[in-house]
Amino acid sequence: MKITAVKTFPIFWGSRNYLFVKVETDEGLYGMGEFGITWKEQAGIGAIQHMTHHILGEDPLNIEWIWQKLFRGDFFPGGRINMAAQSAIDLALWDIKGKALNQPVHMLLGGRMRDRVACYTGIGGATPQDTARMARERVGAGWQYLRMSVNERNGILEPRTAVRDSLAHFAAVREAVGPEVEICIDVHTRLDPPDTIRLGRELEQYDPFFIEDPLRCENPQSYRQVRQHVSSPLAVGEHYATKWEFRQMIEEELLDYARIDLCIVGGLTEARKVANWCETHYIKIVPHNPLGPVSAAACLHLDLACDNFAVQEGGLVGHTVMRELFPVQVPYEAGYLLPPNRPGLGVEFDEKAAAHTEFKWLNGPQLRRADGSFTNW
Ligand SMILES: [Mg+2]
Repeated sequence: MKITAVKTFPIFWGSRNYLFVKVETDEGLYGMGEFGITWKEQAGIGAIQHMTHHILGEDPLNIEWIWQKLFRGDFFPGGRINMAAQSAIDLALWDIKGKALNQPVHMLLGGRMRDRVACYTGIGGATPQDTARMARERVGAGWQYLRMSVNERNGILEPRTAVRDSLAHFAAVREAVGPEVEICIDVHTRLDPPDTIRLGRELEQYDPFFIEDPLRCENPQSYRQVRQHVSSPLAVGEHYATKWEFRQMIEEELLDYARIDLCIVGGLTEARKVANWCETHYIKIVPHNPLGPVSAAACLHLDLACDNFAVQEGGLVGHTVMRELFPVQVPYEAGYLLPPNRPGLGVEFDEKAAAHTEFKWLNGPQLRRADGSFTNW
């Protein structure tokens, strides 16, 4: 089998763009991938165009060989955009391999470890009472895992205010759902170590499942300080590309849950390596999935195959999303993704429907401090 074409589909849907990649072969089989860095889609298309020249004519079943060629083939490391582009191609190759061997992808990764994959859903409201009400509704609909965010006020994020607000919301949610429902909180890199420590210490009385991404990703050593003062579990890693960016965090056991993004880290090939490495340190995986149906499917297959899986970010899962573009998606029931029996990733893409979509030039949302200075969204 040979790769004959690599096509990109930047698609505006809802409030943002998605970038899907289709790899075609001379035997009529195709595979789907998804690019993981939102608001950088055109850079991703450029990277994929460079990579296409490396892989046209190659056998798509030689996934590791292609991974190494794309990663090391042009001498200079390509960085995170390149890895997201390479991730999309890698997912498509696993999709092709599954179809070629007539097996769902998780069977190629070692087989099925579990009957279903628990997901978490996002909650939030203007007041603690609003957030608690939404939490009760979601639990009533079947969700056992909830995730809230560190709060801002009308586009302003003052760290000490945000910590106080977040504690009030978290306390209200715990009170509303009781001790059995797991509650996570995503800091979204909005705090520095001192405020993270303050938040983490105060949260311990409410038994959080994890505190997610308190710090930005540039300096992993800063997690040493947080780790010394916060006993609640930490979930980190959605920005990381390649096993090397996870290396220090795993080896120093600076995280409890690895937020692997399959559409940034280097696809299923790299995610499986990171997950196995985590296993040697008793670290569980919580794959990051803010993306579309291809990312959701890829996460599901990894979760099904890995023993050290904890919970999956639900993302758009469970809603009627992009049905016109992806008439076949992975199965779902309230709060859970279910094992797909179809070969490959288990999604089908309607290229003709994609011809009617558009791309919009967008920038990500931004936050300010009260004095007008910039802060992380
Ligand atoms: Mg996150």
